[in-house]
Amino acid sequence: MRFQDRVVFVTGGASGLGAAAARRFAAEGARVVIADIDTEGATRVAAELPDAVAVTVDTGDASSVEQGVAEAVQRYGRIDVIFNNAGIDGKQQPLHEMDLDNWERVRRINGDGVFHVLKYGIEAMLHGGGGAIVNTSSTTALAAQENISPYTFTKAGIVGLTRSAAVEYAARGIRINAVAPTVVMTPLVERFIENAPDPAQMRREMESFNPKPGIPTPEDIAGVVAFLASDDAAWITGHTVPIDGGYVAR
Ligand code: NAD
Repeated sequence: MRFQDRVVFVTGGASGLGAAAARRFAAEGARVVIADIDTEGATRVAAELPDAVAVTVDTGDASSVEQGVAEAVQRYGRIDVIFNNAGIDGKQQPLHEMDLDNWERVRRINGDGVFHVLKYGIEAMLHGGGGAIVNTSSTTALAAQENISPYTFTKAGIVGLTRSAAVEYAARGIRINAVAPTVVMTPLVERFIENAPDPAQMRREMESFNPKPGIPTPEDIAGVVAFLASDDAAWITGHTVPIDGGYVAR
């Protein structure tokens, strides 16, 4: 019960890694704010949990994030933990054929979106006396894959932003880390496989991605997120932790 009575704000909480983390935080006693652009999905996940609320947020839109954070504070009085996780994959295109709107969309949601949540979330946390933030990067930030350069650009940006934010706020009681998961079978990855030129080959590639056989579950990622957000990780800040079955090591 490491999060007993703590307020946890999860972006992208309607699905995949965000939903699994929301369930894990709730199982350890948290009051959870499910912030997602998908109002219906967020409402469904919130309804499963003992003490949770759904807020509609487009993380790519600064004023929407400001509003969502304000709603969370209005409901629960403060924010102690943020899982800054919402993201999209974008189209698979080589750089020289990249649609400009694909680049712009991935940058806005995965890059600017993470900044918006830090900006307004940190402001709220400072009022509450501190807290912990976990951003979602990806192994693609640490070892590149073809044809997803805007995704890689934003996820690598998150590694740097995690460091700079951690250094800026360490003395004010806020720890900021990131997780870099390998492939996890969530709706995002199912869509990514379907959109590949050869989906069957892409699925095989993903299933043999890591030295450790198999594929981690969203719950496997949630366990590490909960650790980093908890007081067990009181001396860890500014780091991006790969959850990759040895992928980056290889
Ligand atoms: P998912 O598609 O299952 O869930 C993503 C959630 O984010 C959805 O509920 C979606 O509605 C929400 N979302 C999308 N755009 C949003 C926006 N603008 N504002 C608010 N919410 C928005 O995907 P997932 O696999 O759970 O991905 C979660 C995060 O993990 C993403 O940042 C993704 O890049 C990252 N990631 C995923 C994997 C993987 O293999 N699944 C690996 C590494 C990193």
